[in-house]
Amino acid sequence: MRDLSKDHSLLSLNTATVRKQGDLLAIIEACSRHGIGAVSPWRDQVASVGLERAVRAVKDAGLKLSGYCRGGMFPADAARRSEVREDNRRAVDEAAALGAPCLVLVVGGLPQFSRPGSAPSKDLQAARAMVEEGIADLLDYARAANMPLAIEPLHPMYAADRACVNTLAQALDICDRLDPARSGVLGVAVDVYHVWWDPELDRQIERAERGRLLAFHVCDWLVPTRDLLLDRGMMGDGVIDLRRIRACVERAGFDGFVEVEIFSEDWWAKPMDEVIQTCIDRHRTVV
Ligand code: ZN
Repeated sequence: MRDLSKDHSLLSLNTATVRKQGDLLAIIEACSRHGIGAVSPWRDQVASVGLERAVRAVKDAGLKLSGYCRGGMFPADAARRSEVREDNRRAVDEAAALGAPCLVLVVGGLPQFSRPGSAPSKDLQAARAMVEEGIADLLDYARAANMPLAIEPLHPMYAADRACVNTLAQALDICDRLDPARSGVLGVAVDVYHVWWDPELDRQIERAERGRLLAFHVCDWLVPTRDLLLDRGMMGDGVIDLRRIRACVERAGFDGFVEVEIFSEDWWAKPMDEVIQTCIDRHRTVV
């Protein structure tokens, strides 16, 4: 298991963690100042400063990426399929321009939430089928662009509105069906917030192996959790056995960045430097 206590060279900051404190350029500048070597930006943050400026800022700062957030939101009415396809292809192109190692997929839930304006449906099985079709369709494009797709299973509390892929087993089943040769173009993003509770977790991480483990996200699960989306905890403040899960992914061969991804009104209310310094401290002591 890698020793993170000596420095923070393996820390990546998911830029949503400080999205309220500044734009992407300000975040990149702060990361440089704190000696952080990698980030994982969001599409809206890139769009608001412009792709070219974002690409240049990442390059000038000498930053690597640990991922790009995000593609997906596949379920939609038939009339909107081309919108879904184009939107996801653009996400692949942006990820490639930024030099991301993978495009993270939040696959979407029921059509009316994934693509507002779609007809209301309660058919979760149909939504899951649309997700698989959408990934299959995007995979050819991603392969041609040499951009791996990382399916991120989300906690089941998001099944309706964000992702109807809810366990690592389900995500890996999709990978095995669509990319049986394990070509490296399709894998998973393991986010502790979404999978820590899963009794199958260790077995599925082992099953994923290095070739399918494309990203590893950390934060913590607070008790009580006051908001389903915006109350993630700083590492060490909750109940997730972070070190044990990290040992598990590293045993399976994962050797990439440990990405801090916290959506929290509490942490968004603090100064950016304080949040980043706390991420660094916790990365070294509890992750
Ligand atoms: Zn995540």
